[in-house]
Amino acid sequence: MINFEYTRVSTIQQALDALSKNGNAQFIAGGSNLVDLMKKGVTTPAKLVDITNLPLYEIKKESGNIYIGALALNSDVAEDQLVQKEQPLLSLALKAGASQQIRNMATVGGNMMQRTRCPYFYNTDMPCNKRESGTGCGALKGFNRMHAIFGASESCIAVHPSDMCVALAALDATVLVSGPKGNRRIAFQNFHRLPGDMPQKDNTLEKGELIIAVEIPNNSYKEHVHYLKVRDRTSYAFALVSVAVAVDLQSDTIKDVRLAMGGVAHKPWRLTEAENFLKGKAASEANFRQAANVAMHGAKGYGYNNFKLNLAPNTIVEALKTATGKA
Ligand code: SF4
Repeated sequence: MINFEYTRVSTIQQALDALSKNGNAQFIAGGSNLVDLMKKGVTTPAKLVDITNLPLYEIKKESGNIYIGALALNSDVAEDQLVQKEQPLLSLALKAGASQQIRNMATVGGNMMQRTRCPYFYNTDMPCNKRESGTGCGALKGFNRMHAIFGASESCIAVHPSDMCVALAALDATVLVSGPKGNRRIAFQNFHRLPGDMPQKDNTLEKGELIIAVEIPNNSYKEHVHYLKVRDRTSYAFALVSVAVAVDLQSDTIKDVRLAMGGVAHKPWRLTEAENFLKGKAASEANFRQAANVAMHGAKGYGYNNFKLNLAPNTIVEALKTATGKA
């Protein structure tokens, strides 16, 4: 572990000022990923700005939307009665993530900011473009069983590890941020980015910006929702493939649907073409299978992760069956 300065702030302005005064400072809240990164020497901030005293814990309904403060704990959001009633898909995804102990520490903002679990990224003896630009990608021709099948580049084939973010992508959430240039809103689908030739950058936050909250617009996905996570063991493991499904089902017809996948790309992977295919169609296994085939356009395996090319469409079909009561 490196030496670092530590300060605790109590207003958003103090937080922004503390970061702007030190180019190598980072915000810390629950620390459930950042402390690991520091212990392994992957991240070496000169200063930590503790934001846990900021008033960003609130979960409320406002103009029909659900507003969740960035410091709300994953466990609190998962069990919140308003979230369970209005956005049950989010609750399911949160409960599938990490362990109860980690959910008790991890915040919504921190969950969004967590970094890939690619083992080459965490091993400072290995080449990794995300950790150190220009050193190469150890996973590309290495042991890449957990890695991406969509949207990867020659520079990086890592996946984003969050479950919560897969649900937020499906639910068309918006990220509210505050920074040196003021406040702005980022569509959730534009928050995380694909690696391209700049894999060291995980998201579209600008320097010095702080996540304030996440807002989920009102929707009709209160009943037919499911989060199916396939992993190597039944708890405390990252997804090989996960699927978030929300269906607006009328009689047996799909009026509207949201689909997103985790464990397959550098960002939560929204399945817009498959959604469009399913709209207006009957909720049948045959249609689910065709939608899954549509969703797999452009998928590519890198060797050890080729099994995901079969696992992903099968998981989509099973998730849709469960959400619509066809399982
Ligand atoms: Fe690094 Fe990305 Fe390659 Fe993993 S996949 S070794 S994170 S560059």
